[in-house]
Parts: sequence; C-alpha cells; structure tokens
Amino acid sequence: CPGLAVKCGKVEEVETQEEGCLRKPPPMFDYHGIDQDLIQEMVYDSLVWSSLHGLLVGDKSAQRSGKVPGVGLVHAPFALLPVPFPESHWTQACELAPIFSELVDRVSLDGKFLQDSLSRTKKADSFTSRLLDIHSKMLEINKKEEIRLGLHRSDYMLDEQTKLLLQIELNTISSSFPGLSCLVSELQRSLLNQHGEDLGLDPKRIPSNTAVSHFVEAFAKAWNEYNNPRAVVMFVVQAEERNMYDQHWLSAVLNERYPFCVYDTLPLCEKTYGASKIAYGGGKAIAVVYFRAGYTPNDYPSESEWRARLLMEQSSAIKCPSISYHLAGTKKIQQELAKPNVLERFLDNKEDIAKLRECFAGLWSLDDSDIVEKAIEKPELFVMKPQREGGGNNIYGVDVRETLQRLQKEGTDGNAAYILMQRIFPTVSPTFLMRDGICHKDHAISELGIYGAYLRNKDKVIMNDQCGFLMRTKISSSDEGGVAAGFAVLDSIYLT
Ligand code: ADP
Ligand code: MG
Ligand code: MG
Repeated sequence: CPGLAVKCGKVEEVETQEEGCLRKPPPMFDYHGIDQDLIQEMVYDSLVWSSLHGLLVGDKSAQRSGKVPGVGLVHAPFALLPVPFPESHWTQACELAPIFSELVDRVSLDGKFLQDSLSRTKKADSFTSRLLDIHSKMLEINKKEEIRLGLHRSDYMLDEQTKLLLQIELNTISSSFPGLSCLVSELQRSLLNQHGEDLGLDPKRIPSNTAVSHFVEAFAKAWNEYNNPRAVVMFVVQAEERNMYDQHWLSAVLNERYPFCVYDTLPLCEKTYGASKIAYGGGKAIAVVYFRAGYTPNDYPSESEWRARLLMEQSSAIKCPSISYHLAGTKKIQQELAKPNVLERFLDNKEDIAKLRECFAGLWSLDDSDIVEKAIEKPELFVMKPQREGGGNNIYGVDVRETLQRLQKEGTDGNAAYILMQRIFPTVSPTFLMRDGICHKDHAISELGIYGAYLRNKDKVIMNDQCGFLMRTKISSSDEGGVAAGFAVLDSIYLT
C-alpha cells in the first residue's frame, strides 16, 4: 500500500507497512479530491501556524529540548484535516464524561474494593504494589480527602463493524494534551476558514475545544476551595519532558487568568519531597498538586521519589489525582468494573449505568481459562494489557499467544499483572499526517479522548463537566497509539 509524502514541496511515493492489518484497507482515494497544489499550500501554512501558535514539542534530535524551554522546538505531529466523526457518537462520548467522573469518585471512596480487586495484581506487579502500599497507609490512618479534583480523559474507538463507541481506557493521572489538542482544533479550523470552500468542508463542524480553559478553571476553583490565599498550585513534572509545551499551556493560562494561585513546577524528586515537607509542616502551602509525572515506574528511580509521593499523599493538599483516583484508573479496575453487577455497587441511576455499560468492550481477567484459550487460538482479536500508562506497553498479535503460553507454563501469579481486552477495529481512512515538516498520506485509524473535570468538596459537586477533546490518529498498521511515543499524530474531528 504505497502512500504519498509531500517532502520539501515535492510529492513522493513512500513505502508503508500493512502487516498487522486484519482487513484490507479501502483503496486510497483523494481526500475529498484535493489537488496537490492546495495540499502543499496547506502543509506550508500549517507549519507556519504551528510555529507561531505554540503547537510544539521538544525535538528528539536536540539534546536539551526536554530540559530547557525554547531550545530544539519542532511542531507537534498533527493531521492536516479533521477526521469525519458521527455527531451522534460525539454526543454520546460527551455525555459519558460526567458519568465516568462520578464513577471514579465513588470507586475512590471504596478502599476495600480497590485493595481487593488489585490484591492478586499486587503480587505480580511491583509498581502497582507500591501504589497500593501508599493507599493502604492512607486507609490505616483513615485519611479522608474532602476536596477531590479529577482531570480525566476517557478514550474511545468507534468499532467499524458494530458501529459501537467502545472505551479503550480511562486516564485518571497525567491525562496528556489538553493544551495541544485545543491548538490542533484551532489549526484545522483556520485551514478550513481559508480553504473550506475549495475543500467542501465547513469550519463550523469542528467542535470548539475547551480543555485548557476548563482545566485551568478547575485548578482555580480547587484553589479557592482550599481557601488559603498564600497557597500555590504545584505542577509535578518529569525532569526531562519533550511534551513540556502542553503543560506550559496550562500553567501559562493559569498564571494569566488566575495570577493569585501562583503555580510552581517541580520534578518528582527530593526537591518535591522538600516542598511537600514544607507544605506538610505548615510552611509554604500547596493547595493543589497536579501530577504530570508519577504514572510510570521510570518516574521513581529511587526511594526518594516514593517518599515524595507518600508525603504529598499524606499532606492536606488537593491531589490531582489522589492515590485512590490513580488506582481507580488502572486497567485492572476497568476490567473489574465491567463485570456484571459491579457498576450497581457505585452508581444509583440506572440510565447512567446502561450508558456506561454500552461503551464497555470485552474485558477479562487471565483467570478466565476459556478466554485465555480463545486468545491463544485467535490472538489477533485481543489486546493484552499490563498495569501501565503512557503507551507502548500493550501486547498484540502473536506476542499475545506467546505470552499467554509462557504464563501458563510458569503457572505462578504472573498472569495477574495483565488483563485481556477485545481488540477494537475502527474504520480505516486516508489521512494526511504531518511529522517533522513532512506530510505523509496514509491509511489511518483514530481514537477519541474526552476530557472531564470533576471537583467536589464534601457533599458539594462544584464541577463535573465534559471539557474538550483529543483526537489521535495513527497509521492503521501500528498497534500502539502514543503521540509522544511516535506512533500517532494529534488530530481533531469533523462532525458528520
Ligand atoms: P495507555 O494507558 O498506555 O495509553 P491504552 O489502553 O490506551 O494504554 O493502550 C494504548 C494504545 O493501544 C491505545 O491508544 C490504542 O491505540 C491501542 N489499544 C488499546 N486497547 C485497544 C483495543 N482494545 N483495541 C484496539 N487498540 C487498542
Ligand atoms: Mg492510559
Ligand atoms: Mg491510552
């Protein structure tokens, strides 16, 4: 399946791999019959727009690009034109956001459910085990989080055959791209404003994307609930982060609109430990700790990072997320919640429960020997997932079979580290993908993320809103979909 690449103003044939693709993609057609001159104009304009408007990431090839802002910038990978997406499914995804946020909140209050559901995972996975230790300590001291802030992103794919919107996962920690996703929507809208008539596309059909405004409002409202005028909002980040501009969009807009809750940025290390200690000891107060680090074992290279995390959890600061919210977002809990009669433990509204269940794909524990047999027989119909975040961790295709057979042979607790999930096959369509200033035309599939902000103080729900979206588009032959990991591009949607 050859693709086209517009490279330095020239259109070239490029090889693409179609292995791993189960169904033969439809023949490549010209996206709305666009002529090459127009594409090249849009490519150029979009690159200028990205540079001028901060749709940026650190460039891998520049050594200091993850440490120093303003050094080694490159445009974030993006799609030139929005993905057509049915309005009914868009509305459905938006409606789910507040229900999922409510569910996370309810689940977070049931410490026993979290501990019990993850008890076997704890034996098999040392990272989850450390998180559970912190959670246990909080249960022991009967720590209550009265003010709870969740900034989640629930991700979906639209299954082509069944036309069902199915949830991939729910992120409760470090949900990325609230900043850059807004910019991609703006970029594509600006291209349609300019060229919409030629393309036959109406810019108004790209929904407005409010992720930055809403997240920043959530910080300010949480800060207000904390009710200490000298307290700050602290962003906990990775020491090296090429996606720093996405975070800077939040902190800069927060600073601009709500200068009273001056923010601070710290890596997760002794320094954060120090700051948390001071906050804990009643010195410089921290109202909100916003984690854009701490979701992967790599963020805890030594005991010092774990001490920092524990201290933050013990403190009175509002944690975004708290350890309970973090655990509620694990893949194992997603799988437990999909079992019959489990949602009913947490939610009362039957309609809400039905709406959630409708978007659940098949999810199984590896204790289920029938499913394990099926997955060994037809591994291409499953995805195997460990308790990890950030992309690049899942197992696909023949590797599913090999891993399952290895775990069967070992016969220990190893299988409790994973869950099995039904593989979803979204519609494959041609897309223009921009990476490193080069436009590739290829067959791609997309994943829609809906952001949700939830803020609660005791019985009072202060915020529970759908707030913006992220579309990610990846070449259909790639299993994983991380933008930062280099598999996908940022995208937006065109309502049909
Ligand atoms: P992470 O927390 O690492 O992002 P995900 O569950 O989102 O883990 O999986 C990473 C990527 O793998 C997704 O963005 C998606 O592209 C792909 N993926 C995950 N689950 C499925 C599935 N059930 N069917 C098809 N693709 C999937
Ligand atoms: Mg995730
Ligand atoms: Mg994901």
